[in-house]
Amino acid sequence: MRALITGGCGFIGSHLAEALLARGDEVTVIDDLSTGQFENIAHLVGRPGFRFAIETILNETVMDRLVSECDLIYHLAAAVGVELIVSDPVRVIETNIKGTDAVLRIGARYRKKVLLASSSEVYGKSEEVPFHEDADRVLGPTTRSRWSYACSKAMDEFLALAYFRRYALPVVIMRFFNTIGPRQTGRYGMVVPRFVRQALLNQPLTVYGDGQQTRCFTSVKDVVRAVIGLADAPQAVGQVFNIGSQEEVTIEALARRTIALAGSRSEIVFVPYDQAYEQGFEDMRRRVPDISRIKRAIGWEPQINLDGILLEVIADMRQRLEREALQKEERL
Ligand code: UDP
Repeated sequence: MRALITGGCGFIGSHLAEALLARGDEVTVIDDLSTGQFENIAHLVGRPGFRFAIETILNETVMDRLVSECDLIYHLAAAVGVELIVSDPVRVIETNIKGTDAVLRIGARYRKKVLLASSSEVYGKSEEVPFHEDADRVLGPTTRSRWSYACSKAMDEFLALAYFRRYALPVVIMRFFNTIGPRQTGRYGMVVPRFVRQALLNQPLTVYGDGQQTRCFTSVKDVVRAVIGLADAPQAVGQVFNIGSQEEVTIEALARRTIALAGSRSEIVFVPYDQAYEQGFEDMRRRVPDISRIKRAIGWEPQINLDGILLEVIADMRQRLEREALQKEERL
């Protein structure tokens, strides 16, 4: 297969590119490096079957050519991260809505299957856990920037399903829950890389709110396996799938586990949401996926538990910190 990965220099996209190349697919990455990093794919450059374009997916000419030359599109390009959403909502809304509009429009031009990366954020602050794909969504007011991300991703889903119904474009929607692993950056707010970095530097771990909110963290390796499984499954077309683990943990417990596994001397500090994000910030108390649909469709379930992933992230972050220290020394 010839795969096109939008956002292929990002955290999930780069792992997906690696896995597809390993099984013999040809891979083209398009990424404008707005949040992705070239170093995430640097080790793939020169491998047979791999090519990349540093370009925005809004460049119609480039996208037209790349889509016409591929067999299917993994559309992962998006503005992500709660911190980024709150600080730059215009960029988030425009990137997510215009980007997906372009991918679907050009995908339909050449009738290419589109796998769309959506998010558990679309469930909003619903308390009906575990979240089933067909459950109602509960979102806060438009005056709270956070909800713009959920709305932009929901709009992407609506548009993809509309293309499926109206033009029989093969689409598959993937709602990623909290995905973690090596290479993820904490720059845009994600909790695990932030905690691991803080722990390794023996700095205080910043737990937002009372720390009793919960999440289920999934290894990027398990997520990539799910993505490829769905791409290969004709029966997945036209459907929405949750992709996530069901190992629920409070953020305070996550902080304690990170400190223990990293052998850190760090303490925990509690930071009010208003201070961490914006006035009146709303968080979700629990977020757990119902994964019966993807289990039934392709037999997928996660294989790596939280401690296993944390150990991998800690090892990766140690290396990154060492590299950063070396670069600093070289500059001095
Ligand atoms: N969080 C935290 N400290 C941080 C960053 C995030 O306590 O330094 C919390 C955040 O408020 C949320 C959870 O960790 O309750 C997960 O945050 P993340 O941004 O990783 O993902 P989300 O589930 O919010 O999309």
